Amino acid sequence: MVEWYSWRGQVLDIDLTSEKITKIPSDKYFPKFLGGRGLEGKVIWDDVPEGTGALDPENRIIFAPSTLTGTSSPLNGRWNIGALSPQHPKEYPTSSGIGGHWGAELKFAGYDGVVVHGRASQHSYILIRDESVEIRSASHLWGMDSMEAQKRIAEDIAKEGPVPDTSEKPQAGRYAAINIRTVIIGRAGENRSRVACVLHDTGDAAGQGGFGGVMGSKNLKAIAVRGTSPVKIADPQRMVEVSFKIRKMIRSKAVPVIPPYGGPGGLYGGNPAILTGYVKRTDACFGCQVACRGYFDVPGASPGQAQCVQLQMYNNWEGVGPVAPPHPDFADRVQDETTWYGVRLADLLTINSYELTGILSWLWAGYKEGIFNEENTGIPIQDMGSKEFADKLFGMIANREGEFGDLLAEGLHRAAKKLKEKFGNRVWELYEERYVAHGMRQHWFYIGNAKGPGDPTGYPNPIGQLMWAMGTRDPYSNCSFTREPFGVEEVSELIYGTKEAANPFTYDGKAQAAAIAHTRGAMNDSLGFCDWFYPILTIEPLFAEEEEGEEQVGRKLGDLTVEAQMFSAATGIEKTIDELMEDTSRIMNMERAVQVRMGRRREDDTFNEYYFNNPDRRGNPIDRVAWEKVKDEYYEQMGWDPKTGIPTRERLEQLDMKDVADALGV
Ligand code: SF4
Repeated sequence: MVEWYSWRGQVLDIDLTSEKITKIPSDKYFPKFLGGRGLEGKVIWDDVPEGTGALDPENRIIFAPSTLTGTSSPLNGRWNIGALSPQHPKEYPTSSGIGGHWGAELKFAGYDGVVVHGRASQHSYILIRDESVEIRSASHLWGMDSMEAQKRIAEDIAKEGPVPDTSEKPQAGRYAAINIRTVIIGRAGENRSRVACVLHDTGDAAGQGGFGGVMGSKNLKAIAVRGTSPVKIADPQRMVEVSFKIRKMIRSKAVPVIPPYGGPGGLYGGNPAILTGYVKRTDACFGCQVACRGYFDVPGASPGQAQCVQLQMYNNWEGVGPVAPPHPDFADRVQDETTWYGVRLADLLTINSYELTGILSWLWAGYKEGIFNEENTGIPIQDMGSKEFADKLFGMIANREGEFGDLLAEGLHRAAKKLKEKFGNRVWELYEERYVAHGMRQHWFYIGNAKGPGDPTGYPNPIGQLMWAMGTRDPYSNCSFTREPFGVEEVSELIYGTKEAANPFTYDGKAQAAAIAHTRGAMNDSLGFCDWFYPILTIEPLFAEEEEGEEQVGRKLGDLTVEAQMFSAATGIEKTIDELMEDTSRIMNMERAVQVRMGRRREDDTFNEYYFNNPDRRGNPIDRVAWEKVKDEYYEQMGWDPKTGIPTRERLEQLDMKDVADALGV
């Protein structure tokens, strides 16, 4: 029998149609596909039949803790949810990162992932308590909001006491309601909205992808989990040493990056003074020392934690982040009780906040141009920003009320496509101005378009552009580090091996940089390292002084190998960072192979037409010739055929994926 360290040794496969529950040995997936995103791609390739639609019972939704989730590795509470995406215009598979405690709890229950397929004959939820796995009726939970239903599940379980077959264990008493961790959907998910998120606890969410709609299509309200066994570590002493080293580096980075409640997950933009007054504490993913979110308790709304886009959504929907200019009509808005009301309502109904920023911006633009009004939409657009407006619009989307509610529940891409038949092509143009690619709203506009924020540099980010075009969703949570080397050749050389990538105004060196950044981001998603802080490119001198015995001035280069050191200590499998990057390349090629099988080719790797015909912030549209050239270079970097964008046999065989090459016929 294999002794597993860091992994737990089994993956749950749950068929809701037949109610068959299977525990699959993890060596089918690991260590070859690492964890997290790696599990998702492999399951979809192996088990989702060709021709399956995202909302069909045969689609698999994979809840995938990362390799290091549930260990004491710093900032490793992150995990992923993946499936064929109903939000994507071509339903390509995508993956959405999520934090909180559910991923770690699943590892404590003894599993490296949960794969759900089929469709339950009645509204159901899954309850996992260590070895015990049950499919239960959710008839009493259906229709409840995400908070109320989580509370009800915990209360029901608390009444039952310890699970029978573990009552002999001393830890059985730990099944207290407060320790149950749940992923759940509200009304939007139940009604199979393509833009429904999956929520966990009071505000962690897998936002992009429409995975709440996938759960709804399976009649699955929630998965609640409690685990009481430890994740074993291969070399605890070494892990403590590596953890201590990383924690010091993270601490030195966190000082300038995370002001109180105002870092990556805090209160950005606008005027946060009012909401800041309602912050009760900070909140964190499992095992994170940074705790980048605020936990708010605002009168008149349910308390909870929120971060970043979520917290911006009902304040500054024109864009997101510190450089996002609010629409002039809303320039005076502050983050206040009404902002919070909108944030919480979206979470209660489980509507993706990213998508709402796009819908709000698009509706207002159409209203200002005289295309939309209350009479022809059923939406009191003139009241945008009020509590009443949030109740009306978010309720319409979650419940698919009226023509607009039903269409917007399909996501703005599909809604605008349909509505242009009735309102003219301008509604499509307004959509394209706001959505760069893949039918999904973005965090930053890497293209630097005027209808939303550019990269925080204020300019296009060519590395982010390539990642956008080649992926299946906004790559922001995989590439927040890509701007750090801009303007600093030393840092660019450290991570990309080229100084050219330090210049954000050309495509020189960007294909090489994007291939590395893309792979590195997927590695974070597979091993579980939080993108806010990994890779550790630079550190501040805070602790460097004491280490080196001399005064440091300014930033110094970080350590790009700590992820490999941690992986080796935790799993007992000695790997260099280059070997882990090669393993991640296998994951990316598997994801690409699934998309190729679904018809994806080079011509799909691009942006909406709008961006080739309209100026970016620097006054130029994207240069088609230069863009196609840098794409050639990217494919070469990845080992994909530049003519088609399909992985080559040579590269697939290097990655021990001959079976995939055979199946693709390359
Ligand atoms: S920095 Fe924030 S998102 Fe990252 S692991 Fe910590 S709490 Fe989670």
